[in-house]
Amino acid sequence: VDLIEGLAKQHPVNIRITKKRQSKLGDFRPLPESHFHAISINHDLNKYAFLLTLIHEFAHLVTWKIYKSKVSPHGAEWKYHFQQLMIPFMQRNIFPDDIQSALMKYMRDPAASSCSSPELMKTLGKYDEEPSIYLDDLPNNSLFKIKNQTTFLFKKGMKARKRYKCLEMRTKREYWVSGHAEVEEVRDDNNPLNLL
Ligand SMILES: [Zn+2]
Repeated sequence: VDLIEGLAKQHPVNIRITKKRQSKLGDFRPLPESHFHAISINHDLNKYAFLLTLIHEFAHLVTWKIYKSKVSPHGAEWKYHFQQLMIPFMQRNIFPDDIQSALMKYMRDPAASSCSSPELMKTLGKYDEEPSIYLDDLPNNSLFKIKNQTTFLFKKGMKARKRYKCLEMRTKREYWVSGHAEVEEVRDDNNPLNLL
């Protein structure tokens, strides 16, 4: 809290907690006409994902103050400031060991979003109230749906590299699905296809 307070004093900002957005975890909007810039963060993030997203957005703010829109949003300048802002948080050991070590790897070349770093994403997901399940976690031949996607019902098949060949039960078409895809297992006894 005191580290964030320090940042907010140095860089006045309006932080708004929003409903869940599928497309993003948070965002930064420069408001040059106002004393306060704007950061928004989805309400449903666990405390570690929330903190990380907040620092991600503060790095946009700091980058914007120096370069305005002359640099790309997640370019070298943003990466530098994100790394700098993260140092004191990393030094406090406030993250559990598994997140800390996923972060150490991630920090070497921070991606645009923690979502584009499957390892970090998975580690953060363990601290959700309802921990995420990934296709990698299911046994072969499990029936599953992609999270937030209700149309298709798949059966998990053989693995090749990082993806699985999955059979869509209704159309009998095969799809390659990433092992990092967030899924919901569908048990045989409530297999919706039995209801058709
Ligand atoms: Zn960003």
